[in-house]
Amino acid sequence: MTEKVLYEELCPAEFQDRLQACPVAYLPLGTLEWHGPHLPLGADGIQSQELFIRTAERIGGIVLPKLFLGPDRFYHDPERELYGMDICTGGTIVPYEMQQLPGSAYWMPDEEYRGMILRIGANLSRAGFKILAAHGHGPSIRQFGALKEELHSKCGLIGVTAFDFMEDDRLRFQNDHAAANETSITMAVRPELVQLERIRNGEELPIAVAGADPRTDASREYGMEILEMNVNALCRGIGELLNKEKLTL
Ligand SMILES: [Zn+2]
Repeated sequence: MTEKVLYEELCPAEFQDRLQACPVAYLPLGTLEWHGPHLPLGADGIQSQELFIRTAERIGGIVLPKLFLGPDRFYHDPERELYGMDICTGGTIVPYEMQQLPGSAYWMPDEEYRGMILRIGANLSRAGFKILAAHGHGPSIRQFGALKEELHSKCGLIGVTAFDFMEDDRLRFQNDHAAANETSITMAVRPELVQLERIRNGEELPIAVAGADPRTDASREYGMEILEMNVNALCRGIGELLNKEKLTL
């Protein structure tokens, strides 16, 4: 079987081989979103796509292109539209004024997002997939999780996220916002994209970073641990689902 796992890189015969061996599609739930001064704007999709690439390389399946639109909390007044981390919440390291953070361009309403996920599901089901694994941006994961029953009844797909197979808070994949967890994962999968010096040398604490301080608590080792544990958990969880499906078909 080909080593390639990205959907867009497969020829039809390669696609059929991989699908037959393991009918699992992986959908990285990305954004283009402020992730502190030190992480790339596409951090959500970069982390989840790398998780899925490693999972697919180990147990099979096909990795879809990254989404970059997703839901989030939203604030609207006549002068401006603000969403996600533009709006300060209690979970951030430092409080800050509500403001449009540079680079964010991803928001869509919950209802449109749910419609898009179901449409993706219908297309994947038609192509022959049985399981859809999705992970990435927190609010996108939550909305996806709420759609599992509909995905099953309308598309015949079993929906899973990496959160389904990982209980330990410290090891859950993308469990904060641009803080120690997400920074460590990005350091593990794409170290060249992390610029910790942009906050280490700054005098002020970074705004709109929620979770443990990445300047003191992020490391490549921690990121590798999170990555490895989640690849293992996904392989085990999806493997069990595939076995169970075969028994009941
Ligand atoms: Zn994120």
